[in-house]
Amino acid sequence: MKCVICGEEEADGKYEEFGICPICGDLIEDVIAMCFKRFSKLNESQKFPDFFRRQLDYIEETASWIWGWVMEKDKESAKGADDRFYKKLEMIINWMESNIKTVEKICNEFFYSCSKCGGEISPESIKIEETHGWFKVFCKNCENLLAKCFSPKEI
Ligand SMILES: [Zn+2]
Ligand SMILES: [Zn+2]
Repeated sequence: MKCVICGEEEADGKYEEFGICPICGDLIEDVIAMCFKRFSKLNESQKFPDFFRRQLDYIEETASWIWGWVMEKDKESAKGADDRFYKKLEMIINWMESNIKTVEKICNEFFYSCSKCGGEISPESIKIEETHGWFKVFCKNCENLLAKCFSPKEI
């Protein structure tokens, strides 16, 4: 089965049951990882599902934060630097906007609680590590990698 988002690659890997290919799946994780990053800066003990649902209303803004983080430049100049990545990111954002129910299902399965220890996700229960073009979001309790985002500019 072809991927429901890009229509090019075969659906496979972690998100196969949702009809999503590994490349698009990685980009969805980029978006979610960026949400985790913002969430981790909150000091109230908010719940991630509520926070994430609010983020979905401003998902285009989320895309530009990712872009800003990826390129560490303003959006316009970054566009020329890696047009392909930006186009893919836009495609993912458009898909997420019009498939909120599937996004919710994906989050229920992988991101609304820790998939390993079952722990609730709060700003205090996650930690962010930034190294060599990556940032990774871990569960503090069991060290499970919850989501990751990679900057293609480092390649
Ligand atoms: Zn795809
Ligand atoms: Zn955990």
